Amino acid sequence: MENKKHFVCNGGCKGVSDKPMKCQAKECAKYGKALIECDCTDDGHFGNNEE
Ligand SMILES: [Zn+2]
Ligand SMILES: [Zn+2]
Repeated sequence: MENKKHFVCNGGCKGVSDKPMKCQAKECAKYGKALIECDCTDDGHFGNNEE
């Protein structure tokens, strides 16, 4: 399995991008904040799976 770097938002919108950007979801707690770099291979993102 390939480690693909991606950027994710942990503000609640579950946004994922393959390039650095800011959160685009207005209802998200982190709207307008830069997404966080992640390189997980299982979509776990930070090992944080709370729904
Ligand atoms: Zn967000
Ligand atoms: Zn991830």
